[in-house]
Amino acid sequence: MDEKTYREKIYLDHAATTPVDEETLQKMLPYFRENFGNADSPHAMGRRAMNAVDEARDTVASLIGARSGEVFFTSGGTESDNWAVRIGAYAQKDKGRTEIAVSAIEHHAVIESAKKLEAEGFCVRWIPVNEGGMVELNAVRSCVNDKTALVCVMAANNETGVLQPIKEIATLAHECGALFFTDAVQAAPYLPIDVKELSADILSFSSHKFYGPKGGGVLYVKSGVKTERLIVGGEQEKGLRGGTTNVPAVVGLAAAYRKNVATMSETNAKIRALRERFIKGLSNLDGVAFNGAEPCLPSIVNVRFQGVDNVSLLYKMDLQGVCFAAGSACASSSVKPSHVLLAMGLTEEAAKESVRFSLGKDNTEEEINRALALLKDTLRALRAF
Ligand code: PLP
Repeated sequence: MDEKTYREKIYLDHAATTPVDEETLQKMLPYFRENFGNADSPHAMGRRAMNAVDEARDTVASLIGARSGEVFFTSGGTESDNWAVRIGAYAQKDKGRTEIAVSAIEHHAVIESAKKLEAEGFCVRWIPVNEGGMVELNAVRSCVNDKTALVCVMAANNETGVLQPIKEIATLAHECGALFFTDAVQAAPYLPIDVKELSADILSFSSHKFYGPKGGGVLYVKSGVKTERLIVGGEQEKGLRGGTTNVPAVVGLAAAYRKNVATMSETNAKIRALRERFIKGLSNLDGVAFNGAEPCLPSIVNVRFQGVDNVSLLYKMDLQGVCFAAGSACASSSVKPSHVLLAMGLTEEAAKESVRFSLGKDNTEEEINRALALLKDTLRALRAF
């Protein structure tokens, strides 16, 4: 999609991905051609690339309150999540800790990693959520014990935007001697991250959710936590993730994250106001029920349109230039009802009538008004069908 097409669309799917910010793109461009060196080459071209990677690592570390040696670069949220779960599970296996507690609403990157560990002999305890989509502390308490190696609860859910009480959950994990991992992929664009303040031992996020390039992710691992090797090969990322470093992605990630943090409060205020306008407009439509409780990200609205199949609505609205999601992006080609909404107690039917809108910094009031008008007509047409 070129810039013109993006502007012509009403793009309400920022939780799936965002366009690369112009300033960020300009910072990345030299690393494709003039400064194309392999960051591991000892010559001048390599050193120039490595300097950029070192600088990016220092930037990210200082912005999240970590040390540079605690920040690993990956290809994105999925890879960071896969690595996080393995590190957390195996870190204390020699002490007889063979259980992990995972919230039922995690992204598939975490859920599938946990299932893989199950096949390797770990016991996975699935932490339920309440009907508002929140993990309650008592639910965590009943899933942890002195055999728990790791507790995984995401900071903000990707489908409902519901914020989780991760600081309190981290305390519960630590009280029983377990590590705490939080997937902050959806939270990072909107909430400042301070790993010490959050008491996270392991934390992940992904560049393309905050106007950085795809192919860039971060894994924070607190120093002292025993790390597992993810990709064998070269000695990159302290010898734990082999493979030639994607320098443009790393440079872009750091630039985008720096800008994101600097503009966060202003962007959040703008998006929050648009979200309020959108929710108000949706509330005036017939047969509407909102999924997910507050506190919530300023960007996400998950809503059920009774009697309307979400995939049909998505395609009808797409034809009119409005982009959003039925379930999460990674599951958009399947018609499976969302595991998140089912975990919140919705029926399969209700889940298949639910969609996710996620607003971004370039959306306007005019777009929100147009989207609401188009929705009103499309819902009427689909219900009459
Ligand atoms: N975790 C969450 C909460 C997400 O929303 C996503 C993507 O939508 C991911 C992980 C995966 O990130 P990536 O697309 O960078 O692999």
